[in-house]
Amino acid sequence: MDLLNTLVDKGLRRELPTREEALAVLATSDDELLDVVSAAGKVRRQWFGRRVKLNYLVNLKSGLCPEDCSYCSQRLGSTAGILKYTWLKPDEASQAAAAGVAGGAKRVCLVASGRGPTDRDVDRVSQTIEAIKDQNEGVEVCACLGLLSAGQADKLRTAGADAYNHNLNTSEGTYGEITTTHTYADRVDTVQQAQAAGLSACSGLIAGMGETDDDLVDVVYALRDLDPDSVPVNFLIPFEGTPLAKEWNLTPQRCLRILAMVRFVCPDVEVRIAGGREVHLRSMQPLALHLANSIFLGDYLTSEGQAGKTDLDMIADAGFEVEGTDTVTLPEHRADALAAAGCGSHGDGGGGCGPCGSSEPAEPAEPAEQSAVPEQSASSDASESSEARTDLVAVRRRGAGTDLAPNA
Ligand code: SF4
Repeated sequence: MDLLNTLVDKGLRRELPTREEALAVLATSDDELLDVVSAAGKVRRQWFGRRVKLNYLVNLKSGLCPEDCSYCSQRLGSTAGILKYTWLKPDEASQAAAAGVAGGAKRVCLVASGRGPTDRDVDRVSQTIEAIKDQNEGVEVCACLGLLSAGQADKLRTAGADAYNHNLNTSEGTYGEITTTHTYADRVDTVQQAQAAGLSACSGLIAGMGETDDDLVDVVYALRDLDPDSVPVNFLIPFEGTPLAKEWNLTPQRCLRILAMVRFVCPDVEVRIAGGREVHLRSMQPLALHLANSIFLGDYLTSEGQAGKTDLDMIADAGFEVEGTDTVTLPEHRADALAAAGCGSHGDGGGGCGPCGSSEPAEPAEPAEQSAVPEQSASSDASESSEARTDLVAVRRRGAGTDLAPNA
């Protein structure tokens, strides 16, 4: 396929595909799917080899959020039966983090529900970061606390945070349909504040909220323009008790096409499969490792993931290897740029609050000149639908905020 050859060449050169090429990836047929995975896999291997970075979520504060993000089980008015608790103490959070590190996680993602932290919250999280860093040599810490106010990113960086997560989530054009209590511009501003403080930015998206292919391409190009070091790709978990509970729009094939498109547009960035991996990719998870170079180990913020041991077995069975703390995640050119910006020697950032975080680019990236895009035998589009698999959605009942051992 000329399209795929063109995209591989561009990915190896870190050149931006055209919008038409990105849209064409989303429109490929099932017959073409393995070719798409193979092509994007070449780009993935060029920049990240066969390494898989493991990240571990610690939900510092769960539920009770005053914001109304439609996709979120912690939102205002959510009746999802999730765990609800207020701030974990630093030693509780550190114990939870240690379980993830013992399971192979290289990065710990500290997440808290809410619009954004108070300065007191930032002090509390700073103590938690220091405790985790003291007790887990070499671990990277990413904070995901919502919208930041002036000076807060600097405080987190001073406390030892390596990264900050805030996802764009969806396109600027549809953001207002998903959330009304804050704006896309608010999210962009927070990511830029994190970058200005020398934190590695982590910002991604949520697919499956009823968006069009154009929306998906919009948000991924916006991310490319914002230039985070890591891009978590969440697949909506339609929680009962939230406005998007009926949005079962994803198939495993659609998820693979989305991940491939993200890899082609952001070739040298850590692409992380985030929430919804087990629910939507299901038995196709190992194929997705050819596209993404990073996953979360074990459970998510409010839902259960597959057993941490199963994650490790999957990585080994698929011929990949868990990335160690002695390896820099990002390709040299990105790691050097990050170090020059004031961040440490570590790699990218990986946020967890699929819900939280976001940001918008100053201006959409200028597409390169168009290259030949063949006619697509489109079999997949935004209307592709999957049967509801509510049987695969399990609320987290163990780990942080409970007396039960975490899944790591
Ligand atoms: S995504 Fe974050 S800000 Fe939005 S409702 Fe959920 S916890 Fe609150």
